[in-house]
Amino acid sequence: MTLSPEEKASRKRDRMIETVIKRGRGKYVSAILAPLFQEMIRAEAAAQPDGRYPAVVDGKLATVFREIGQCVCVTCGKVKPWKGTYTMEAGHFLAGRTASTLFAPTNSNPQCTSCNQHLSGNQANYEIWMQHVYGQEEVDRLRRLKAEVRQFTREELVDMRIEFQSRLDTAIKRMEEG
Ligand SMILES: [Zn+2]
Repeated sequence: MTLSPEEKASRKRDRMIETVIKRGRGKYVSAILAPLFQEMIRAEAAAQPDGRYPAVVDGKLATVFREIGQCVCVTCGKVKPWKGTYTMEAGHFLAGRTASTLFAPTNSNPQCTSCNQHLSGNQANYEIWMQHVYGQEEVDRLRRLKAEVRQFTREELVDMRIEFQSRLDTAIKRMEEG
């Protein structure tokens, strides 16, 4: 029996839902979905054409040159490959593992390990960058969203996984094509 592409996709989705049931939603988010989301954020930033991009350097807005395949840390301006050891991470502007902001794309942006972990997100600089790139309205929207605790359904988690994977694949393909 040959399955149509739609049938194949639907079976794959069913198997993913089984994985959520097996692992539990919390573990599925922390072990699978959050790392995939962060990889997608870095890949989409790295797939942008060569050029100068905004970053906060020494507390001031600046633009930093990066090439395709690289990310700029939004809060210090360091440029590093999007993937590999000791390289970029994706840092949340507003932290909170149960908040609705966990998978809000504007809330997560490339950050180096030093800013994301050692400086706990380098908040003051992150705020400057967010204001400049997304504006006050979006910052306010994210702050309201953060107050909402969200429990995603199994179906929502799986649909996000499918979407993030597809966006990641598209970004990687764009980088490979240069
Ligand atoms: Zn940094």
